[in-house]
Amino acid sequence: MTELLDELRTAFGPAAVLDPADMANVLVGYRGVHRGDAVAVVRPGTTEEVAEVVRLCARHAAAVVTQGGNTGLAGGSVPADDGSARPSVVVLLSRLARIEPVSTGASSVTVEVGATVEAVQRAAHGAGLMFAPDWGARGTATIGGAISTNAGGINVLAYGPMRNHVLGLEVVLADGRIWNGLRSLRKDSSGYDLKQLFIGAEGTLGIITRATLALMASITHESTAFAAIRSTSDLAELMAMARAGTDGTLTALELIPDMGIEAVGRKFARARPLATRAEWYLLVRYGGSSPVEQDLAEFLGGAVDRGLITDAVVAGTTRQSDELWFIRDELSPPGLIANFELAVKMDSAVPVDRIAEFIESIEETCRSVSPAGRPYIFGHVGDGNLHIHVLPPDSQADMAEFLGHRPALYAALDNLTWSMGGSISGEHGVGQELRTRIVGQKPPVEFDLMRDIKHVLDPHDTLNPGKTIPADPRQ
Ligand SMILES: Cc1cc2nc3c(=O)[nH]c(=O)nc-3n(C[C@H](O)[C@H](O)[C@H](O)COP(=O)(O)OP(=O)(O)OC[C@H]3O[C@@H](n4cnc5c(N)ncnc54)[C@H](O)[C@@H]3O)c2cc1C
Repeated sequence: MTELLDELRTAFGPAAVLDPADMANVLVGYRGVHRGDAVAVVRPGTTEEVAEVVRLCARHAAAVVTQGGNTGLAGGSVPADDGSARPSVVVLLSRLARIEPVSTGASSVTVEVGATVEAVQRAAHGAGLMFAPDWGARGTATIGGAISTNAGGINVLAYGPMRNHVLGLEVVLADGRIWNGLRSLRKDSSGYDLKQLFIGAEGTLGIITRATLALMASITHESTAFAAIRSTSDLAELMAMARAGTDGTLTALELIPDMGIEAVGRKFARARPLATRAEWYLLVRYGGSSPVEQDLAEFLGGAVDRGLITDAVVAGTTRQSDELWFIRDELSPPGLIANFELAVKMDSAVPVDRIAEFIESIEETCRSVSPAGRPYIFGHVGDGNLHIHVLPPDSQADMAEFLGHRPALYAALDNLTWSMGGSISGEHGVGQELRTRIVGQKPPVEFDLMRDIKHVLDPHDTLNPGKTIPADPRQ
């Protein structure tokens, strides 16, 4: 592979081709679980340069792994550690981060996909509009990664996942051709909507280089509350009440466990938002182009009257609201909870009307399969999507038992999710993490179709091999 490295250096100069030894962080996934190896890490500065990298790699039968902010949690952005001897080149898109002027007329913006989600949010805001997708990693996660994992986040409830915000794409294909599908049309019935294939494909079908994104009217009024709830079994009623009579102003509804409040408070020396202790809390936000305080007050008042909410605090200022959302952003356990790398981690979605039953069943499953594990569940309850963790025990005496139960716990939680018509990848994609386990989720014909599509677009399996699509059982 020295020849490939030499060709890359000649084509892009030494500064654009970094030695993997200097780029150790690039080769380890966010959670530290997945580690890969690479011949080179290349930082192209234009779409044409991305295409040239792909052509060179294809010629040398090397794999191409695209990386944005490396905040993905499924191991998709680092070369597969599946034991295959295939050399890989990581294409880092951080230099491809220009944002064109916002079109207020079309309510859209065209960006290079190495731009972060936060940078695009800022650009939209500067033009009096809003880019709605939002989550804790906004400052590092890129538009390319967000599109490629069909990312969700806290605003899905009102505005949907990334798929709903992409109007057009420019993509480098596996043979080095460039497809310019950058359009800002709101309606187009001219046949297959090819951009949809690349959304959520985790870099297995093409490298997205530019995107035209839909923007929306800015939210000018917002109101957030943090509420202690009586029980998760009331969630269906609470969600119905939160939505009732609001004309779509409910923009976020997040479930937070007391363990999370405790852990974030400890790590960042923050006071608890409420004196009242409960096992579970809701973080709820209303937003719109006219005042929404009344919507929030009616929800809280009604829920308190029925005994579903036992105490609540409404953020009176933007600072107080930011403080409440800070807790939500920091609930992710790496660095928050000891031995997190040993935890069982899932990101499942079920139909929203089954969420209470789902939480109860997760806890029951943990008790019966791995009594030493400690469930830590939070997330986008309004979308039926939960970040589920079963944390290792505090006591070393129980650790071996917990570790021994991990495979059975994953199997039981996967089956539980599917038995409720759910997905074990509500967010974050499949990557390497779920590539084997996802097999049980869909009929075999669905995976056959995915393989057929992959074969048409990438016959030599150049783009992100060993990810997303389960191995073909016929081979
Ligand atoms: C604290 C925290 C909170 C998070 N919260 C959420 C959340 O609420 N909702 C959610 O959905 N996710 C969440 N995530 C996961 C992650 O931020 C998203 O999946 C994000 O979209 C990944 O973007 P990235 O640029 O880091 O992509 P990477 O991690 O670099 O890549 C992710 C995948 O996309 C592929 N890819 C990247 N760029 C391109 C491209 N240009 N063309 C083709 N393929 C590409 C990679 O090969 C890989 O398969 C969270 C992560 C963290 C760390």
